[in-house]
Amino acid sequence: LAVTVSPFRDQTGALNGVVAVMHDISRIRKLEKIRTEFIDNVSHELKTPVTAIKGFTETLLDGAMYQQDICREFIEIIDKETARLSRLVHELLDLSKIESKNTQIKTKSMDINKIIRDTVAKLRGQIDGSGLEIKLSLPGKPVIAKANSDMIDQVLINLIDNAVKYTYTGGEIEIEVSEDDQNVVIKVRDNGIGIPAVDLERIFERFYRVDKTRSRAMGGTGLGLSIVKHIVELHGGIVGVQSTPGVGSEFFFTLPKPTNNKS
Ligand code: ADP
Repeated sequence: LAVTVSPFRDQTGALNGVVAVMHDISRIRKLEKIRTEFIDNVSHELKTPVTAIKGFTETLLDGAMYQQDICREFIEIIDKETARLSRLVHELLDLSKIESKNTQIKTKSMDINKIIRDTVAKLRGQIDGSGLEIKLSLPGKPVIAKANSDMIDQVLINLIDNAVKYTYTGGEIEIEVSEDDQNVVIKVRDNGIGIPAVDLERIFERFYRVDKTRSRAMGGTGLGLSIVKHIVELHGGIVGVQSTPGVGSEFFFTLPKPTNNKS
């Protein structure tokens, strides 16, 4: 805590009081630290693929391009790193848009079952390609929540994408929808590698990953879950996770139901 004291004088200039202003420096320092860490992380994350792309390109130009097998291997790496770089830039822009304080989102009453079916149809190729089963446990009638469909599509993509990345071939992903009086609850469950208890509470932080090498190898950026959390909170919902290493993970989020028929 820092205190600034300024004298307070009357018209004749005589001192007749002081104004003491207390600043909560610890909060300012903490925000400053978060900002610096974020910039360090961003620089590191951007440098890694750029360095790889530059390195492999130079090696190709230095002569490796004439050896067909090596040439293909290196170009595949460059392609993969470029894709990751592009994803990183897009996700950073998404984050900065949704984090800006005056973000107002447009929501409409919509059937969450439909958004889920549409998103899963879009990801079908990727899920099948990973050798995973996907099961939808949706109520037999429309489940209406107030949502921005593009944003909820993004939330589902990130959660399903993670379930696919962190579950071994032959595993299963399940999406379940339920509702109470005020909220719709969406759960994305997998029987993959799970998350250790010590990491659980930090998993929604930007760039936090349990296993950096594994996440990178899977093309992860470490931003997916922080985007999920921001979007859900902008909707007035909450997110959470339960997980057991070696057994699987269950992510859930809630979306508020419309308060009247018109909304
Ligand atoms: P990433 O791009 O690394 O997947 P996310 O923000 O989406 O970043 O997730 C952060 C970390 O949380 C991941 O690196 C991974 O360690 C862990 N994680 C997320 N989803 C799952 C899951 N379904 N199963 C196991 N670990 C997960």
